[in-house]
Amino acid sequence: MTKSKKLTSKSAVTIPKDLRFEAGFTGGMAVDIEPVKGGILIKPHLPTCRFCGSIESVDTLKGMEVCAKCAIELKKEVEQKYAG
Ligand SMILES: [Zn+2]
Repeated sequence: MTKSKKLTSKSAVTIPKDLRFEAGFTGGMAVDIEPVKGGILIKPHLPTCRFCGSIESVDTLKGMEVCAKCAIELKKEVEQKYAG
């Protein structure tokens, strides 16, 4: 089902209600936007570790998405640098 919309002057577009509903999109939710051949794909945001790219056990620390493994490594590094 193809829908045609015009971009606003700021290049924004409103996704038609039926498509939003079908995709489970709700106002204010985070999305991931990626280029695909011939267009752009918009998907619900998948939390991803900013250090290693993992999607396993990702949580937000100080506004950054970090996996548990990297969080433990960061904790060790911080303790070593700032010990004593
Ligand atoms: Zn990680």
